[in-house]
Amino acid sequence: MLVDKDTETTIKAIGLKNALEYNGRARTDAVIAKIMACRVDLRRDLKNLIPEIKEIVQKINVLSLSDQKALLEQIGGAKVKQEGRTDRSYAHLPPLEYAEVGNVVTRFPPEPNGYPHIGHAKAAIIDEEYARMYNGKLILRFDDTNPLNEKLEYYDAINEGLEWLGIKPDTVKNTSDDIQLLHDYGKKLILNDSAYVCTCKPETIHTLRAKGISCECRKDPNISLDRSKKMFSNSFAQNEAIIRFKGNMSSQNTALRDPTLFRIIEGDHPKLHKQIRVWPTYDFAAPIEDSLDGITHALRTKEYELRNALYFAILDRLNLRKPFLTEFSRLEFDGIPISKRKIKQLIENGIVKSWDDPRLPTLMAMKRRGFLPEAIRKFVLSLGMTLAETKPPIKTLESLNRKIIDPQCRRLFFVKDPVELQVLGAVSKEVVLRNHPNNIDLYVRKVQVSNSFYISREDALEFFNTGTEFRLIELFNVKIVEIKSDSQNQVFVAIQTGDEMKQSTPKIQWVAKEDAYPYKIIIARELYRGEEYNKDSLEIVDGVAESFVSSLNRGTMIQFVRFGFCRIDSNEVAILTHR
Ligand code: ATP
Ligand code: MG
Repeated sequence: MLVDKDTETTIKAIGLKNALEYNGRARTDAVIAKIMACRVDLRRDLKNLIPEIKEIVQKINVLSLSDQKALLEQIGGAKVKQEGRTDRSYAHLPPLEYAEVGNVVTRFPPEPNGYPHIGHAKAAIIDEEYARMYNGKLILRFDDTNPLNEKLEYYDAINEGLEWLGIKPDTVKNTSDDIQLLHDYGKKLILNDSAYVCTCKPETIHTLRAKGISCECRKDPNISLDRSKKMFSNSFAQNEAIIRFKGNMSSQNTALRDPTLFRIIEGDHPKLHKQIRVWPTYDFAAPIEDSLDGITHALRTKEYELRNALYFAILDRLNLRKPFLTEFSRLEFDGIPISKRKIKQLIENGIVKSWDDPRLPTLMAMKRRGFLPEAIRKFVLSLGMTLAETKPPIKTLESLNRKIIDPQCRRLFFVKDPVELQVLGAVSKEVVLRNHPNNIDLYVRKVQVSNSFYISREDALEFFNTGTEFRLIELFNVKIVEIKSDSQNQVFVAIQTGDEMKQSTPKIQWVAKEDAYPYKIIIARELYRGEEYNKDSLEIVDGVAESFVSSLNRGTMIQFVRFGFCRIDSNEVAILTHR
């Protein structure tokens, strides 16, 4: 045995657990994946470790179930040592079926027809985590087969979004790079009578498909052969002809009712310009690309499930290698559309201004709002590979984000709807405020105060009406005794009631009058409440902040005391990340 005792114990414990889960037979692949997941320190040595793991698994598998159980108890299997763990925890992703270490290739295939969103983050993170878990490869493949939808701007936005998430594909390619190859496979399908050119009107195709009846075009392969020559030599007009797969027109699975493989689209494609008019559909391009790209595991969202049969049927007829398909649920939030198409409509209809509107779930907007990529990764991994349709609460993401930013954010003062508070007898002085109660690296700041402050109207009225003593944080205790009004202003007048810190005294933030800086905070909420557009989805809160805030760069994360975490958006504006 070459491995040290600790490692051996880890392997045994994981192996035994796996065996007990699967009726006494542990699977080497599953055990390796699990070991890599919880012992990051062993990954570098994996090659040398594999024979050891195989040997231990073999020994475990000859034991009886009861012996396996006893042995696991003996070595304290519950306490598998989790050394060297990093934040990139794979804890929530189960092992991939049929995955071999060193031989896994996954792909993320976005269409460059919009800006990436948190749904893409989910898919891309899962693809990447599995590639890394098995020491494999991740391919980013732009699924760019509709010249009317794709734009260079969107390829760039997707690249930037992935970079922000910390995802580094091993290969980047476009489906359009392979357009000639895809044409060739299309022609091949026609030749072997697995596809035909259909010239029926779209309405006819639609009706017959719904009824499960085939059309005349399907019958004679020779006619299709002629027509396909015409089609690929660009002699058909747009909408005059499509190429359809010869599936099964009466199949219960409507995806198999002779779906479209190619259509004629005239448009200026960002990569191929006007060179190409015959474009493959996703249904045709995806299986071929996956197969030729060496994808071992194609992970897709659940709505594709019905199309799995078609995916394999196409590969079958072309005699191409079949990747393993597996599904996970599409990420959805209440009241927030997670779809490029829907977001694009919101922009086109002027409901939101741009792709980085803080109400949107685009990566750009989430970054602008103050979500960190680490929090998004943790969130995605916490969802795991479930197929559940339930929408995860956005609060979960917020609390993961809060945990990361809370120790790093300066705590500063912002006063919403400010009123003046005059404190009788208060002397002018410089006060030193701590930027964080327990992160001393965030230092202190100095503020000049006199006897005039701003506090929020809501606080002032409440304390005046109830006669409550309160504390201006880091200063002193006061009590409001009078409200003076002139034609324009109300001034709240207070007396000092001592310096003593008392648990029961409410503590509020303030801004010194001399130091006040007009400031706005944007609050973004769900775009929809039920089916209805939420008119309060974007609120702008006016107030004053300490002038220090104006010196902070865009992107700085802060916490406004009693308000929430914010990201600085410009000199006068911050966006509320979450409370
Ligand atoms: P959209 O409506 O945003 O265009 P799409 O599925 O057509 O959605 P693609 O760019 O084709 O978007 O998707 C690329 C990959 O991202 C696909 O594998 C898809 O399953 C995945 N994906 C897209 N949206 C989500 C989501 N909301 N949750 C999980 N995965 C998603
Ligand atoms: Mg799509």
